[in-house]
Amino acid sequence: MEELRVSVRELVEFTLHGADIRLISGRMQDMLDGTLGHQARQKLLGDGWQAEVPLNLPILVEEEELTLVLGGRMDAFRDATDVPCVEEIKLWQGEHPPEAPIPAHRMQAVCYGHMLCVTRGLPAVDVRVVYVTRRGKVQGEFPERLTAEECRAEFQSVLLPYLRRIRAVRRHTRARNASLAALKFPYANYRPGQREMAVQVYTAIKRKKRLFACMPTGTGKSSATLFPALKALGEGLTGQVYYLTARTTQRQGALDALARLHQQTLHLWALVIDAKDRQCPTHTLCHPDYCERAKGHFLRDTEAIEEMMTADDWSAENVRAVADKYCLCPFEFAMSLCEIADVVICDYNYALDPAVHIRRIFDATRDVTLLIDEAHHLPERFRDMLSGSVDSAGLRKLRTVVGKAAGKKHPLYKAMTDVIRAVDNLLLPEDGSTEGTLPKLPDDFDRVCLSLADAFMDARQEHFPWEDAGGRLGDTLMPLLSFNRARQRDSADYAILWEGRRHPKITAFALDSAGYFQQATQGLSGVTCFSATLHPLPEMRLLLGGAEDDACFAMPSPFPPEHLQIRQVDVNTRYAHRTSACTEIARQITALVTQKPGKYLVFFPSFAFLRMTAERLMLPCQVQEKQMDEAARAAFLDAYRQEGGDALSLCVLGGVFSEGIDLPGRQLDGVVVVGVGLPQVNLYQEVLRAHFERTLGDGFLYAYMLPGMQKVTQAVGRVIRTETDTGVALLLDDRYSYPAYRRLMPEHWRVTR
Ligand code: SF4
Repeated sequence: MEELRVSVRELVEFTLHGADIRLISGRMQDMLDGTLGHQARQKLLGDGWQAEVPLNLPILVEEEELTLVLGGRMDAFRDATDVPCVEEIKLWQGEHPPEAPIPAHRMQAVCYGHMLCVTRGLPAVDVRVVYVTRRGKVQGEFPERLTAEECRAEFQSVLLPYLRRIRAVRRHTRARNASLAALKFPYANYRPGQREMAVQVYTAIKRKKRLFACMPTGTGKSSATLFPALKALGEGLTGQVYYLTARTTQRQGALDALARLHQQTLHLWALVIDAKDRQCPTHTLCHPDYCERAKGHFLRDTEAIEEMMTADDWSAENVRAVADKYCLCPFEFAMSLCEIADVVICDYNYALDPAVHIRRIFDATRDVTLLIDEAHHLPERFRDMLSGSVDSAGLRKLRTVVGKAAGKKHPLYKAMTDVIRAVDNLLLPEDGSTEGTLPKLPDDFDRVCLSLADAFMDARQEHFPWEDAGGRLGDTLMPLLSFNRARQRDSADYAILWEGRRHPKITAFALDSAGYFQQATQGLSGVTCFSATLHPLPEMRLLLGGAEDDACFAMPSPFPPEHLQIRQVDVNTRYAHRTSACTEIARQITALVTQKPGKYLVFFPSFAFLRMTAERLMLPCQVQEKQMDEAARAAFLDAYRQEGGDALSLCVLGGVFSEGIDLPGRQLDGVVVVGVGLPQVNLYQEVLRAHFERTLGDGFLYAYMLPGMQKVTQAVGRVIRTETDTGVALLLDDRYSYPAYRRLMPEHWRVTR
């Protein structure tokens, strides 16, 4: 008999939920107050009461051969031989006491009442909802005595709709599994290493382990990872497959692989999640007063979900069409569909960012498989996700806006002043430095930052002209929220940085991305991290917190190594020598494109270096700009995509043209890479270097060389995209001959001098 676990809260909220989408208050203080209120009330209840009492009820669903195990914890419970009492405690912050319990709160208490009646054979039970302040003071109390039959009848009103959904999903699952059992690999033959890779992915899912895989260009990574994951899904080894990408442009590979699989009979709900901003049709506030789709969204979405459940086509267009038909917020609709989707293709954030991950999935179950594409981005992305900052200069500008619009007595103005003062009062070293680290922050610092975040939330519907501050509100607010979250975590995993003496910016900088990744992926149904540049694998596994028994697998390049001629020329590109290096670099580029005219991309470590060289280069070329929208990027690549002709472009390494672009055949004849890609030396990198020196024994390798050589490998990887491609890569730096750098090059590179 299969078992399915569901919490009382989930069961109740499936039926009894709000009607509208509202910006979630997100007040951190509320969350803390909620916990405090619970604890205070539990203490005040005194003798005879127990807190957080677990209760389970197995419910047999015979026709599905399923046992639904309903579980939860009663906030407070008073046992008695005759009529015991269940209490549901909720925080109340309204100005006036509540007049009646909120239906979902009451239903939670009733569910526990029903569970008690069934498990103990009771004829009746007392249930009550109590609203309290953070100190546990009662604001409203709603007691009832219910017979077992009354409890049962009410319980059925939430159970039956839930069971209807479960039956429909299980019907689909049976059809899906049958189609997956018959599914064949979508190509006539496996490429070299592809079958072994598929076995590795399947094994990682079966063993619930992590797999770290280096998959060079052309190895067919999307099919080699998705196919075994789908097979495992069909065999019940995992509940869902999330294909995570670092950039929107990287999704196409997964979509193409799925489209190819769909040429066979396949019943699969595969969903793509796009960013909220990109999906939003109204571009207003997520609030029923502003957005017609937010108003009543949850009253209409059940029918829309049921319509989707009758279709196999869950393409972005179809999901959008159904959202439009029911006047739904497309983003929120996609979030709901996630719960029943078989495959979800989305950004890393939705699974891994502690601030925005899909809670209803990743907080509720570990029965999920992650396929993480371009996983070499993970360490940096984690540091971004987990770090946060308080920018006192930005706050001053925003405060001026609030002061002008609402006066200095406005709570938001006051909260900003408290934080600015707290930053000003920090004891910075008296040595004239303009940045550095702080051993710790004063006790009160976190409190004022939390209060400021809450003040922002409270004022979110007052339309201050934030644009008058010369920047976007989010540029200051989002890092502040991240800072507050960071400060709730273990301080040992963070460094506190300060920058700027006059109006300092304080950053809680996350050091331990490995620890977080380990924790976020622990116990999931298989996690495969793969990339063409996840190399060297043992070091990358260490950097990502992999364990000894997490497998590493390197696929061979499917292309003949002689198709790519890699030549190294000794040029000293170190920072102090850049001015003199420019002339030699310009000469090398000129020699290359003169000897073999064609289409070339040249990658520089920085825009400044790029411009210096451009001034010395007597050749027609285009230059990458710092800000380029999608149209500008497409126009930039036009010269490459057109048939015939020559092209020369100067770009930055690690930028939009050095990864994720595909220029097969004669669209690209070669690349030139200037330098070894080391990140710029700055406070952040130096703090990281010290951290890795301490924890992994080689700070320079992990903070500089590895990310640098990954960028180089990505750039060189633009040249050979298909079996018939040939081309050249010119590496301009003397360090490419050092053994330490050679070791970080892909095995299939043959470098000549
Ligand atoms: S449609 Fe746009 S504004 Fe409306 S709720 Fe959705 S994201 Fe928010």
